Amino acid sequence: MSSKVKSLLRIQEIEEALRKEAKAFHLELIQELANNRMGIPMELIRSYDRAKKRYKNAIVRLVNGVCQGCFLAAASGTSIVAKAGKSFHVCEHCSRLLYCEEPAPESSESPKKK
Ligand SMILES: [Zn+2]
Repeated sequence: MSSKVKSLLRIQEIEEALRKEAKAFHLELIQELANNRMGIPMELIRSYDRAKKRYKNAIVRLVNGVCQGCFLAAASGTSIVAKAGKSFHVCEHCSRLLYCEEPAPESSESPKKK
């Protein structure tokens, strides 16, 4: 067997191994994706999917009342509720989901709801 044939056979082997590995990794990611999606309410997933069709980042942070996707100020109500972290909100300008990592400010104005 010539060294060229040997090399070609090895190339074929390596390519096949890489293909199998990529497939296994792909399946792992799909499984993880499914697991994560299962834990999200349908309505929220729909909003996410809708935004994801238009943007690379469907969920963005709300910083000082400003959507970090479109950089426009969110309505004050959206800001307050997003800060409280009780539910997700959608930016009224770009439709991305908004979240807020900052702790809810201590305020006597907003009554506590359960
Ligand atoms: Zn926005």
